[in-house]
Parts: sequence; structure tokens; C-alpha cells
Amino acid sequence: MIPEDIALQQLINGTYIIAAFLFIFGLKMLGKPDTAKRGNLLSAIGMLVAIVVTLLAREILSYQWIIMAAIVGAVIGALTARMVAMTSMPELVALFNGSGGLASLVVGWAALYSTGNSTFTVFTIFLAILIGGVTFTGSLVAWGKLSEVMPSGAIVFGAQRIVNGILLLALIYVGAMLCLNPSTSSPEFYAVIVLSLLFGVMVVIPIGGADMPVVISLLNSYSGLAACAAGFAINNIILIVAGSLVGAAGLILTNIMCKAMNRSLANVLFSGFGAVKTATKVEGEVKPIVAEDAFLILEAASNVAFVPGYGMAVAQAQHVVRELGELLEANGCEVSYAIHPVAGRMPGHMNVLLAEANVPYDQLIEMDEINPRIENVDVAVVIGANDVVNPAAREDENSPIYGMPIINVDKARTVFVLKRSMASGFSGVDNPLFFGDNTRMLFGDAKASISSVIAEFKT
Ligand code: NDP
Repeated sequence: MIPEDIALQQLINGTYIIAAFLFIFGLKMLGKPDTAKRGNLLSAIGMLVAIVVTLLAREILSYQWIIMAAIVGAVIGALTARMVAMTSMPELVALFNGSGGLASLVVGWAALYSTGNSTFTVFTIFLAILIGGVTFTGSLVAWGKLSEVMPSGAIVFGAQRIVNGILLLALIYVGAMLCLNPSTSSPEFYAVIVLSLLFGVMVVIPIGGADMPVVISLLNSYSGLAACAAGFAINNIILIVAGSLVGAAGLILTNIMCKAMNRSLANVLFSGFGAVKTATKVEGEVKPIVAEDAFLILEAASNVAFVPGYGMAVAQAQHVVRELGELLEANGCEVSYAIHPVAGRMPGHMNVLLAEANVPYDQLIEMDEINPRIENVDVAVVIGANDVVNPAAREDENSPIYGMPIINVDKARTVFVLKRSMASGFSGVDNPLFFGDNTRMLFGDAKASISSVIAEFKT
């Protein structure tokens, strides 16, 4: 290497370290609602720095293609960010994870064209293609389940584990063959791609219903691991660092999600949600209520807990919920927002919505914090939540969601459930809460119902 090249390489590596610091501090700041926005910006700056400095590298063959691709990517990104409805954000996240996987697969593929790759490098290329391929098709299946383009439940069949086992063995075999004879024209290379894509479909179809949060976070982690493998394949330090950070963060989130559902990862991955269980049929008398009556009860309450779920996102009710919260506070009532870790359709979904509506962070409380004092809550207002407040998870051993910790709203003095009908939630399981003695159903779109209660407060 000539001295100029060494100096350039040192500059690039030094800047990569700065970018890595920005990623790490950005991630740390993302852990708290009040610093999350700045954390996001910091990480984005880190990524920009990493991209710019990478473009200084001499091996780059065509700036025209890179600029064209960057423009196309930026236009697609800006358009989707503007056009996608907040309720479709989880599906978008699934597609982003899938795109990350596909990108790593393609990087791995391209790296195989270089001559003189060591066996270790070819192994990392194999990993980039394998994990990237699994992430790509797995994410497409997750997208299909979340958007209900395909059935959202688990798809299981008799010899599933045997088929998956054979697929895995076949992948290991063709992977070993590829490492021994690295070539883009060998049949093993194409077999690795096809089997990886197939494996992605096979590992995600048996996961469904209430177990989906685990899959979403796991695929997020895979997309990072695939990028990390791609980083090794092309010997790019920042890709290795960024990929490891995403991989590790995704694994931590997966662990949190598993704990939130009281399941082990193995159980989620291999047991098939609700595949053999049928919940006990729920029957009883429903007690509907109108906005005027809801107002009278709320006006007399001194402690109200809002429990939001996916329906709040559908109704976009977060702003009126905050407004009602403020009116209650002005009336001398203590107000809190109880957040279940898997409420909504993506990790942190409720936090994002409530932050958007400027709900004070100190009023957000976690499930473990509200449950011990739920008996002291005068009114628990359930806003489009269903699975995360379903007492069957606590009481019905036959229920597919049995064992999943819930927010025990049924133990509050009074429960209002705001939803449009008696329909079940994402898991498809009936909810005995709706028939509880202390439950009142306020039927209708959550935003409209809360607006009607607000109108009562104001008259
Ligand atoms: P659920 O899906 O259990 O229930 C949502 C409820 O909202 C429905 O029963 C629906 O009833 C009601 N709803 C829909 N639209 C409106 C509206 N406009 N106004 C009022 N209500 C409405 O949501 P939860 O948040 O309780 O639970 C989340 C579920 O999603 C869990 O099973 C979880 O495992 C799963 N999941 C979570 C992910 C995550 O990362 N958080 C990812 C993927 C899945 P109705 O139609 O009668 O109005």
C-alpha cells in the first residue's frame, strides 16, 4: 500500500470509530422516551458519517450507480414515511427488516465474485446469504400475517419439525460444499440461496397469533446478524459493528417480548401458537353503557387508568385520550396510562402513540407497576385493547394465551371497554372480561366514544 492509501484507510477507520460511538450513544438514548428523538437523530448522523466516509474508499467502481440507487432509495423512503398510515407501521417495519436481509444476501452474493477469498470469508458469505435469505422471506411472511394478507394464526402440519430438520441439514451440507468450492456458478451456491429463502418461510409460518411480537423482534435481530456477516464478507468494520448492535438489540428485545408473554423462545419457535388448545367458550351478559353514563362515573372517580391497545392506533384516539386525561386531572383525579409490553402491533407501539400526543412520560406505567395497585383504580378505561387484558390468560388453562401476563383490569373497581363490537383481538381468543360484573362496554370507534365523553365534560 502506498502511504497515501494508508493515510486514507486510517482516516476511514478513525471515522468509523466515531460513527460507532454515535450508534452506541444513540441506542442508549433510544431507551428513554424523553431522549429517544435525539437518540434517533444521533444514530442517523452516525450512519450518514459512515456512508460518506465509505464513499471515500478507492475500491468504489461507480459513483453514478451509487448516486442513482441512493436517490431511488431516498425517494421510496420519503414517500413511504409520508404515505404509510400509523396503523400500518408494524407491517412497514417487517418490510424494512426484510429489505435489510435481502441487502445482506446480495452483498454476500457479490462478495463471492472476488477472487482469493479465504475459507473463513466464504463461510461468512454463506452466513450472510443464509441469515439474509431467512430474514427476507421470514419478514415477508410476518408482513403477510400482520396485514392479514394471509391467516394470522400459526400454520402447522404433521411432519413440520422433520421437514425443517431436513431443510437445516441440507443447508449445512450445501453450505459446507460451498465453503470447499466457492463459486457463483456452482449448483451448491444456488441451493444455498433457494434453501435459505425456503427456510425463512418454514420457520415463521408456525408462529402466529399472540406470539407474533417475538417473531418481529427476532427478525429484527436476524437482519442485524445478516449485516454483521456481510460486514465480515466484505471486510467492512462499520457494517460489522452496526450489524452486531442491531443483532444484540434485537435479541434483548426478543428476550423482553418472551418474558412479557411468559414463554421461552424455544416454546414460541417450535410449539405453534394455539395449535392444539381450544379456549373454553365464553358466555354471559354484556352491559353496554353510553357516553353520558360513562361521564358520570368518570367525574366521580379519583383514580383512572387508561389501558390502550391496538384499537387506539386504529382509531387514532391518542390525542383525545390525552385531552380526557387532562380534563380528569383538572377534576382532581389521578390519571395514569398502563402499557402492556405487547400491546398494539409492534414493540413500543403505545409509547410512540402517547408520546406523539404529548402524554407526560411520568404518567406511563408498566404492567408490573400497575398490577399490584389495580384494586385501587376506580375506573380502568380499556381503549381498543383486548388480548392484553384478557383474564383467560390467567384463568383458563385451555386458552392458547394461558400464561401470558396481562394487565388485570378486571380487578379494578369498574372497567370501561371501548371497542366497536364483541370481536376478538389478534389472537382470535374470546374475552371473558366483556361479561364481568364490573365491566361496562362503551361500543363504537374509540376516538368517537372518547370525544363524546369529552363533550359531556365540557357541557
Ligand atoms: P388486540 O388485537 O387484542 O385487540 C384490539 C382490539 O381493538 C380489537 O378487539 C378491536 O375490537 C379493537 N378495535 C379495533 N379498531 C378499533 C377502533 N377504531 N375503536 C375501538 N376499538 C377498536 O390488541 P391488544 O393491543 O390488546 O393486543 C395486541 C395483540 O397483538 C397481542 O395478541 C399481541 O401478541 C399481538 N401482536 C403484538 C405485536 C407487538 O409487537 N406489540 C406484534 C404482533 C402481534 P373491535 O373490532 O370490536 O373494535
